Amino acid sequence: QVKLDGLEVGYDIPALPGMDEKDIQTPCLVLDLDALERNIEKMGRFAREMGVRHRVHGKMHKSVDVALLQERLGGSIGVCCQKVSEAEVFARGGIKDVLVSNQVRDPAKIDRLARIPKLGARAICCVDDLANVADLSAAAVKHGTTIECLVEIDCGAGRCGVTTTPAVVDLAKAIDAAPGLKFAGIQAYQGAMQHMDRYEDRKAKIDIAVAMVRDAVEALKGEGLECDIVGGGGTGSYYFEGNSGVYNELQCGSYAFMDADYGRILDKDGKRIDQGEWENALFILTSVMSHAKADRAICDAGLKAQSVDSGLPVIFGRTDVKYIKCSDEHGVIDDPEGVLKVNDKLRLVPGHCDPTCNVHDWYVGVRNGKVEVVWPVSARGKAY
Ligand code: PLP
Ligand code: MN
Repeated sequence: QVKLDGLEVGYDIPALPGMDEKDIQTPCLVLDLDALERNIEKMGRFAREMGVRHRVHGKMHKSVDVALLQERLGGSIGVCCQKVSEAEVFARGGIKDVLVSNQVRDPAKIDRLARIPKLGARAICCVDDLANVADLSAAAVKHGTTIECLVEIDCGAGRCGVTTTPAVVDLAKAIDAAPGLKFAGIQAYQGAMQHMDRYEDRKAKIDIAVAMVRDAVEALKGEGLECDIVGGGGTGSYYFEGNSGVYNELQCGSYAFMDADYGRILDKDGKRIDQGEWENALFILTSVMSHAKADRAICDAGLKAQSVDSGLPVIFGRTDVKYIKCSDEHGVIDDPEGVLKVNDKLRLVPGHCDPTCNVHDWYVGVRNGKVEVVWPVSARGKAY
Protein backbone atom coordinates (compact mmCIF):
# COMPACT_ATOMS: atom_id res chain seq x y z
CA GLN A 1 0.00 0.00 0.00
CA VAL A 2 1.05 3.57 -0.59
CA LYS A 3 0.32 6.65 1.47
CA LEU A 4 -0.97 9.80 -0.13
CA ASP A 5 -1.64 12.82 2.09
CA GLY A 6 -1.53 10.49 5.07
CA LEU A 7 -4.38 8.34 3.77
CA GLU A 8 -4.16 4.66 3.00
CA VAL A 9 -5.12 4.63 -0.65
CA GLY A 10 -4.13 1.13 -1.59
CA TYR A 11 -3.88 0.92 -5.33
CA ASP A 12 -6.64 3.33 -6.28
CA ILE A 13 -4.13 4.77 -8.70
CA PRO A 14 -1.82 2.62 -10.79
CA ALA A 15 1.38 4.45 -9.92
CA LEU A 16 2.90 7.35 -8.03
CA PRO A 17 5.46 9.84 -9.34
CA GLY A 18 8.98 8.69 -8.56
CA MET A 19 8.16 4.98 -8.80
CA ASP A 20 10.14 2.66 -11.01
CA GLU A 21 8.32 1.75 -14.19
CA LYS A 22 8.44 -1.91 -13.15
CA ASP A 23 6.23 -1.18 -10.12
CA ILE A 24 3.34 0.29 -12.12
CA GLN A 25 0.09 -1.62 -11.62
CA THR A 26 -1.37 -3.11 -14.76
CA PRO A 27 -3.26 -2.90 -16.98
CA CYS A 28 -2.94 0.85 -17.33
CA LEU A 29 -2.15 3.55 -19.85
CA VAL A 30 1.47 4.58 -20.05
CA LEU A 31 2.71 7.66 -21.87
CA ASP A 32 6.30 7.84 -23.09
CA LEU A 33 6.76 11.52 -22.23
CA ASP A 34 9.79 12.02 -24.49
CA ALA A 35 7.90 10.64 -27.50
CA LEU A 36 4.76 12.60 -26.60
CA GLU A 37 6.67 15.86 -26.32
CA ARG A 38 8.44 15.26 -29.63
CA ASN A 39 5.13 14.56 -31.39
CA ILE A 40 3.55 17.70 -29.95
CA GLU A 41 6.52 19.91 -30.83
CA LYS A 42 6.67 18.48 -34.33
CA MET A 43 3.01 19.15 -35.13
CA GLY A 44 3.41 22.65 -33.70
CA ARG A 45 6.32 23.19 -36.07
CA PHE A 46 4.37 21.85 -39.07
CA ALA A 47 1.42 24.15 -38.36
CA ARG A 48 3.74 27.14 -37.98
CA GLU A 49 5.52 26.34 -41.23
CA MET A 50 2.21 26.03 -43.09
CA GLY A 51 0.98 29.27 -41.54
CA VAL A 52 -2.12 27.77 -39.91
CA ARG A 53 -3.34 27.49 -36.34
CA HIS A 54 -3.67 24.16 -34.58
CA ARG A 55 -6.71 23.50 -32.42
CA VAL A 56 -5.90 20.03 -31.10
CA HIS A 57 -8.66 17.46 -30.86
CA GLY A 58 -9.23 16.82 -27.17
CA LYS A 59 -11.67 13.95 -27.70
CA MET A 60 -8.63 11.79 -28.38
CA HIS A 61 -6.95 12.11 -24.97
CA LYS A 62 -9.71 13.72 -22.89
CA SER A 63 -6.98 15.19 -20.72
CA VAL A 64 -6.62 18.77 -19.52
CA ASP A 65 -2.94 18.09 -18.74
CA VAL A 66 -2.20 16.90 -22.27
CA ALA A 67 -4.14 19.85 -23.76
CA LEU A 68 -2.12 22.29 -21.66
CA LEU A 69 1.10 20.58 -22.77
CA GLN A 70 -0.05 20.96 -26.39
CA GLU A 71 -0.52 24.68 -25.79
CA ARG A 72 2.86 25.05 -24.10
CA LEU A 73 5.00 22.90 -26.41
CA GLY A 74 2.99 22.83 -29.62
CA GLY A 75 1.54 26.32 -29.67
CA SER A 76 -2.01 25.01 -29.99
CA ILE A 77 -4.60 27.73 -29.69
CA GLY A 78 -7.26 25.69 -27.91
CA VAL A 79 -9.16 22.45 -28.23
CA CYS A 80 -11.87 20.78 -30.20
CA CYS A 81 -14.09 18.32 -28.43
CA GLN A 82 -17.18 16.42 -29.49
CA LYS A 83 -19.47 16.77 -26.50
CA VAL A 84 -20.64 19.64 -24.31
CA SER A 85 -19.62 17.66 -21.22
CA GLU A 86 -16.06 17.45 -22.57
CA ALA A 87 -16.11 21.16 -23.32
CA GLU A 88 -17.05 21.84 -19.70
CA VAL A 89 -14.09 19.80 -18.45
CA PHE A 90 -11.63 21.61 -20.71
CA ALA A 91 -13.04 25.04 -19.88
CA ARG A 92 -12.92 24.34 -16.13
CA GLY A 93 -9.38 23.06 -16.59
CA GLY A 94 -8.21 26.38 -18.00
CA ILE A 95 -8.47 25.94 -21.77
CA LYS A 96 -9.66 29.32 -23.03
CA ASP A 97 -10.83 28.48 -26.53
CA VAL A 98 -13.15 25.50 -26.94
CA LEU A 99 -14.84 24.28 -30.10
CA VAL A 100 -17.49 21.60 -29.91
CA SER A 101 -16.79 20.29 -33.40
CA ASN A 102 -20.22 18.79 -33.53
CA GLN A 103 -23.93 19.56 -33.56
CA VAL A 104 -25.61 20.52 -30.27
CA ARG A 105 -29.40 20.06 -30.42
CA ASP A 106 -30.71 18.88 -27.08
CA PRO A 107 -32.16 21.87 -25.14
CA ALA A 108 -30.30 21.06 -21.91
CA LYS A 109 -27.02 20.72 -23.78
CA ILE A 110 -27.60 24.01 -25.60
CA ASP A 111 -28.19 25.66 -22.24
CA ARG A 112 -24.94 24.24 -20.85
CA LEU A 113 -23.04 25.32 -23.97
CA ALA A 114 -24.34 28.86 -23.50
CA ARG A 115 -22.89 28.91 -19.98
CA ILE A 116 -19.37 27.86 -21.00
CA PRO A 117 -18.19 31.47 -21.52
CA LYS A 118 -18.93 32.00 -17.83
CA LEU A 119 -16.12 29.51 -17.15
CA GLY A 120 -13.79 31.90 -18.95
CA ALA A 121 -13.65 30.18 -22.32
CA ARG A 122 -14.67 31.07 -25.83
CA ALA A 123 -17.49 28.67 -26.81
CA ILE A 124 -17.86 27.61 -30.42
CA CYS A 125 -20.11 24.96 -31.94
CA CYS A 126 -21.17 23.72 -35.37
CA VAL A 127 -24.52 24.24 -37.06
CA ASP A 128 -26.09 22.45 -40.02
CA ASP A 129 -29.78 23.33 -39.60
CA LEU A 130 -31.58 26.67 -39.57
CA ALA A 131 -33.87 25.39 -36.81
CA ASN A 132 -30.89 25.17 -34.46
CA VAL A 133 -29.99 28.86 -34.86
CA ALA A 134 -32.98 30.18 -32.92
CA ASP A 135 -32.40 27.70 -30.07
CA LEU A 136 -28.71 28.56 -29.72
CA SER A 137 -29.52 32.26 -29.92
CA ALA A 138 -32.20 32.08 -27.21
CA ALA A 139 -29.84 30.27 -24.83
CA ALA A 140 -27.01 32.74 -25.38
CA VAL A 141 -29.36 35.69 -24.84
CA LYS A 142 -30.78 34.07 -21.69
CA HIS A 143 -27.29 33.73 -20.19
CA GLY A 144 -25.92 36.99 -21.56
CA THR A 145 -23.12 35.16 -23.38
CA THR A 146 -21.98 34.68 -26.95
CA ILE A 147 -21.92 31.36 -28.76
CA GLU A 148 -19.76 31.41 -31.88
CA CYS A 149 -21.03 29.21 -34.69
CA LEU A 150 -19.32 27.44 -37.55
CA VAL A 151 -21.41 26.22 -40.43
CA GLU A 152 -20.59 22.56 -40.87
CA ILE A 153 -19.98 21.29 -44.37
CA ASP A 154 -20.16 17.57 -45.09
CA CYS A 155 -17.17 17.38 -47.38
CA GLY A 156 -17.23 13.61 -47.78
CA ALA A 157 -17.56 12.03 -44.35
CA GLY A 158 -21.29 11.44 -44.73
CA ARG A 159 -22.04 12.54 -41.18
CA CYS A 160 -23.35 15.94 -40.11
CA GLY A 161 -23.16 19.03 -42.29
CA VAL A 162 -24.73 20.65 -45.32
CA THR A 163 -23.50 19.87 -48.82
CA THR A 164 -24.15 22.99 -50.91
CA THR A 165 -22.77 26.51 -50.90
CA PRO A 166 -26.25 28.13 -50.91
CA ALA A 167 -27.11 26.16 -47.76
CA VAL A 168 -23.86 27.37 -46.13
CA VAL A 169 -24.65 30.97 -47.01
CA ASP A 170 -28.24 30.73 -45.71
CA LEU A 171 -27.05 29.35 -42.39
CA ALA A 172 -24.26 31.91 -42.07
CA LYS A 173 -26.66 34.78 -42.68
CA ALA A 174 -29.10 33.45 -40.10
CA ILE A 175 -26.31 33.07 -37.53
CA ASP A 176 -24.99 36.55 -38.31
CA ALA A 177 -28.45 38.02 -37.74
CA ALA A 178 -29.20 36.14 -34.51
CA PRO A 179 -28.70 37.90 -31.17
CA GLY A 180 -26.17 36.18 -28.91
CA LEU A 181 -24.54 34.35 -31.82
CA LYS A 182 -21.48 35.20 -33.85
CA PHE A 183 -20.77 33.73 -37.25
CA ALA A 184 -17.22 32.41 -36.92
CA GLY A 185 -16.61 30.43 -40.10
CA ILE A 186 -16.67 26.88 -41.40
CA GLN A 187 -16.14 23.39 -40.02
CA ALA A 188 -15.18 20.90 -42.73
CA TYR A 189 -13.57 17.73 -41.43
CA GLN A 190 -13.27 14.88 -43.91
CA GLY A 191 -13.33 11.95 -41.50
CA ALA A 192 -13.87 9.16 -43.98
CA MET A 193 -10.45 9.33 -45.64
CA GLN A 194 -8.07 9.67 -42.69
CA HIS A 195 -7.26 5.97 -42.51
CA MET A 196 -6.94 5.28 -46.23
CA ASP A 197 -3.56 3.60 -46.71
CA ARG A 198 -2.28 5.50 -49.71
CA TYR A 199 -1.28 9.16 -49.62
CA GLU A 200 -2.58 9.74 -53.15
CA ASP A 201 -5.99 8.30 -52.26
CA ARG A 202 -6.22 10.58 -49.23
CA LYS A 203 -5.16 13.56 -51.33
CA ALA A 204 -7.87 12.90 -53.92
CA LYS A 205 -10.53 13.01 -51.19
CA ILE A 206 -9.21 16.20 -49.64
CA ASP A 207 -8.98 17.88 -53.04
CA ILE A 208 -12.77 17.49 -53.24
CA ALA A 209 -13.20 18.88 -49.73
CA VAL A 210 -10.95 21.87 -50.42
CA ALA A 211 -12.90 22.72 -53.58
CA MET A 212 -16.20 22.67 -51.66
CA VAL A 213 -14.81 24.79 -48.84
CA ARG A 214 -13.17 27.29 -51.20
CA ASP A 215 -16.45 27.78 -53.03
CA ALA A 216 -18.30 28.38 -49.77
CA VAL A 217 -15.69 30.79 -48.38
CA GLU A 218 -15.77 32.86 -51.57
CA ALA A 219 -19.56 32.98 -51.65
CA LEU A 220 -19.61 34.09 -48.02
CA LYS A 221 -17.08 36.81 -48.77
CA GLY A 222 -19.38 37.99 -51.54
CA GLU A 223 -22.08 38.45 -48.90
CA GLY A 224 -19.70 40.35 -46.61
CA LEU A 225 -19.25 37.40 -44.25
CA GLU A 226 -15.62 36.69 -43.31
CA CYS A 227 -14.56 33.34 -41.89
CA ASP A 228 -12.42 33.71 -38.80
CA ILE A 229 -12.09 29.91 -38.67
CA VAL A 230 -11.95 27.46 -41.55
CA GLY A 231 -11.31 24.27 -39.65
CA GLY A 232 -10.66 20.61 -40.37
CA GLY A 233 -7.84 18.16 -40.87
CA GLY A 234 -6.66 15.11 -38.99
CA THR A 235 -3.55 13.00 -38.58
CA GLY A 236 -4.01 11.46 -42.02
CA SER A 237 -4.56 14.71 -43.89
CA TYR A 238 -3.28 17.82 -42.06
CA TYR A 239 -0.64 18.66 -44.73
CA PHE A 240 -3.35 18.88 -47.39
CA GLU A 241 -5.63 21.26 -45.46
CA GLY A 242 -2.63 23.13 -44.06
CA ASN A 243 -1.25 23.87 -47.51
CA SER A 244 -4.63 24.47 -49.17
CA GLY A 245 -4.64 28.23 -48.77
CA VAL A 246 -8.27 27.89 -47.65
CA TYR A 247 -8.22 26.15 -44.27
CA ASN A 248 -6.63 28.12 -41.44
CA GLU A 249 -7.11 25.76 -38.47
CA LEU A 250 -6.10 22.12 -38.10
CA GLN A 251 -7.80 19.72 -35.69
CA CYS A 252 -5.44 16.78 -35.34
CA GLY A 253 -5.83 14.42 -32.43
CA SER A 254 -4.22 11.02 -32.82
CA TYR A 255 -0.77 12.29 -33.90
CA ALA A 256 0.13 12.97 -30.27
CA PHE A 257 -0.33 9.38 -29.05
CA MET A 258 -0.50 7.30 -32.29
CA ASP A 259 -2.13 3.89 -32.48
CA ALA A 260 -1.74 0.68 -34.46
CA ASP A 261 -4.50 1.44 -36.95
CA TYR A 262 -3.16 4.91 -37.82
CA GLY A 263 0.43 3.68 -37.75
CA ARG A 264 -0.26 1.48 -40.76
CA ILE A 265 -1.16 4.32 -43.17
CA LEU A 266 1.56 5.46 -45.55
CA ASP A 267 3.22 8.82 -46.02
CA LYS A 268 4.03 10.31 -49.42
CA ASP A 269 7.16 8.16 -49.68
CA GLY A 270 5.20 4.98 -48.95
CA LYS A 271 6.51 4.71 -45.39
CA ARG A 272 4.25 3.88 -42.43
CA ILE A 273 3.51 7.02 -40.43
CA ASP A 274 4.62 5.35 -37.19
CA GLN A 275 8.06 4.80 -38.72
CA GLY A 276 9.25 8.37 -38.84
CA GLU A 277 6.41 10.88 -39.02
CA TRP A 278 5.03 10.08 -35.54
CA GLU A 279 6.18 8.05 -32.58
CA ASN A 280 4.10 5.71 -30.48
CA ALA A 281 3.68 7.59 -27.21
CA LEU A 282 0.65 5.73 -25.81
CA PHE A 283 0.82 2.19 -24.53
CA ILE A 284 -1.31 -0.18 -22.54
CA LEU A 285 1.08 -1.65 -20.03
CA THR A 286 0.13 -5.24 -19.34
CA SER A 287 1.51 -8.11 -17.25
CA VAL A 288 1.73 -11.79 -18.05
CA MET A 289 -0.39 -13.59 -15.46
CA SER A 290 -0.34 -17.14 -16.75
CA HIS A 291 1.87 -19.30 -18.94
CA ALA A 292 0.27 -22.65 -18.23
CA LYS A 293 0.55 -23.57 -21.93
CA ALA A 294 4.09 -23.70 -23.30
CA ASP A 295 3.32 -21.59 -26.37
CA ARG A 296 0.76 -19.17 -24.93
CA ALA A 297 1.07 -16.32 -22.48
CA ILE A 298 -2.04 -14.79 -20.96
CA CYS A 299 -1.89 -11.12 -20.05
CA ASP A 300 -4.15 -8.93 -17.94
CA ALA A 301 -5.25 -6.48 -20.67
CA GLY A 302 -8.43 -7.67 -22.34
CA LEU A 303 -11.47 -5.93 -23.77
CA LYS A 304 -11.99 -3.76 -20.69
CA ALA A 305 -8.57 -2.21 -21.07
CA GLN A 306 -8.97 -1.11 -24.66
CA SER A 307 -11.10 -0.72 -27.76
CA VAL A 308 -10.56 -3.27 -30.51
CA ASP A 309 -12.91 -1.68 -33.06
CA SER A 310 -9.93 -0.95 -35.32
CA GLY A 311 -8.03 -4.15 -34.66
CA LEU A 312 -6.11 -5.86 -31.88
CA PRO A 313 -3.20 -4.18 -30.14
CA VAL A 314 0.34 -4.76 -31.30
CA ILE A 315 3.11 -5.67 -28.86
CA PHE A 316 5.57 -2.80 -29.11
CA GLY A 317 9.06 -3.61 -30.30
CA ARG A 318 8.51 -7.37 -30.49
CA THR A 319 8.19 -9.74 -33.42
CA ASP A 320 8.69 -12.94 -31.43
CA VAL A 321 5.36 -12.70 -29.60
CA LYS A 322 1.93 -11.63 -30.84
CA TYR A 323 -1.33 -10.55 -29.20
CA ILE A 324 -3.89 -12.76 -30.96
CA LYS A 325 -7.16 -12.70 -29.01
CA CYS A 326 -8.94 -11.07 -26.14
CA SER A 327 -11.89 -11.56 -23.84
CA ASP A 328 -13.16 -9.28 -21.07
CA GLU A 329 -10.14 -9.48 -18.77
CA HIS A 330 -7.64 -11.65 -20.65
CA GLY A 331 -5.35 -11.15 -23.58
CA VAL A 332 -3.96 -14.19 -25.34
CA ILE A 333 -0.40 -13.92 -26.60
CA ASP A 334 1.11 -16.34 -29.04
CA ASP A 335 4.54 -17.21 -27.66
CA PRO A 336 5.84 -20.07 -29.84
CA GLU A 337 9.32 -20.09 -28.30
CA GLY A 338 8.05 -19.69 -24.74
CA VAL A 339 10.13 -16.57 -24.16
CA LEU A 340 7.70 -14.81 -21.81
CA LYS A 341 7.47 -15.40 -18.06
CA VAL A 342 4.76 -14.69 -15.51
CA ASN A 343 4.91 -11.06 -14.37
CA ASP A 344 6.77 -9.94 -17.45
CA LYS A 345 5.45 -6.57 -18.53
CA LEU A 346 4.70 -5.71 -22.14
CA ARG A 347 3.79 -2.47 -23.87
CA LEU A 348 0.79 -2.80 -26.17
CA VAL A 349 0.12 -0.24 -28.89
CA PRO A 350 -3.68 0.01 -28.87
CA GLY A 351 -5.58 -0.50 -32.12
CA HIS A 352 -7.48 2.79 -31.68
CA CYS A 353 -6.31 5.44 -29.24
CA ASP A 354 -9.46 7.54 -28.62
CA PRO A 355 -11.86 4.88 -27.33
CA THR A 356 -9.03 3.14 -25.50
CA CYS A 357 -8.19 6.25 -23.46
CA ASN A 358 -11.87 6.59 -22.58
CA VAL A 359 -11.86 3.36 -20.59
CA HIS A 360 -9.04 4.38 -18.23
CA ASP A 361 -8.90 6.76 -15.29
CA TRP A 362 -5.20 7.62 -15.41
CA TYR A 363 -2.24 8.28 -17.65
CA VAL A 364 1.07 7.24 -16.14
CA GLY A 365 3.77 9.39 -17.74
CA VAL A 366 7.20 7.78 -17.74
CA ARG A 367 10.69 8.92 -18.63
CA ASN A 368 13.97 7.03 -18.24
CA GLY A 369 12.30 4.13 -16.48
CA LYS A 370 10.68 6.31 -13.80
CA VAL A 371 7.14 7.51 -13.33
CA GLU A 372 7.22 11.29 -13.69
CA VAL A 373 3.53 12.24 -13.67
CA VAL A 374 0.14 10.64 -13.09
CA TRP A 375 -2.58 12.55 -14.95
CA PRO A 376 -6.31 11.92 -14.75
CA VAL A 377 -8.20 11.16 -17.96
CA SER A 378 -10.17 14.26 -17.03
CA ALA A 379 -13.07 13.88 -19.44
CA ARG A 380 -13.23 10.10 -19.25
CA GLY A 381 -16.78 8.92 -19.88
CA LYS A 382 -17.95 12.43 -20.73
CA ALA A 383 -20.03 11.31 -23.67
CA TYR A 384 -23.12 13.34 -22.78
N1 PLP B 1 -11.81 16.84 -36.32
C1 PLP B 1 -12.92 16.15 -36.04
C2 PLP B 1 -14.22 16.85 -36.07
C3 PLP B 1 -12.86 14.78 -35.71
O1 PLP B 1 -14.00 14.11 -35.45
C4 PLP B 1 -11.59 14.15 -35.69
C5 PLP B 1 -11.47 12.72 -35.37
O2 PLP B 1 -12.30 11.89 -35.61
C6 PLP B 1 -10.46 14.91 -36.02
C7 PLP B 1 -10.62 16.25 -36.31
C8 PLP B 1 -9.08 14.38 -36.19
O3 PLP B 1 -8.62 13.43 -35.42
P1 PLP B 1 -7.40 12.49 -35.80
O4 PLP B 1 -6.18 13.35 -35.89
O5 PLP B 1 -7.37 11.59 -34.64
O6 PLP B 1 -7.72 11.81 -37.06
MN1 MN C 1 -10.08 7.97 -33.67
